[in-house]
Amino acid sequence: MSETVSTYRIACTACGTENRIPASKEGISGRCGSCRAPLPPLYLHPLELTDRSFDPFVSGYQGPILAEFWAPW
Ligand SMILES: [Zn+2]
Repeated sequence: MSETVSTYRIACTACGTENRIPASKEGISGRCGSCRAPLPPLYLHPLELTDRSFDPFVSGYQGPILAEFWAPW
């Protein structure tokens, strides 16, 4: 029996090198293997933010963000 380890590629915002990130590292910020610059954390699942947490998250995130806005009414 073999176990498949999913990896994802994140391009370094400083040098452009593609870094392989294992799915198990979701939400954890790593460093570029080439230039050691911090990489944006990988998010595979939607992250629910509130009116209080949205601005701090978006302003501190270095990678692209896809936002969906909704309300219960
Ligand atoms: Zn780099």
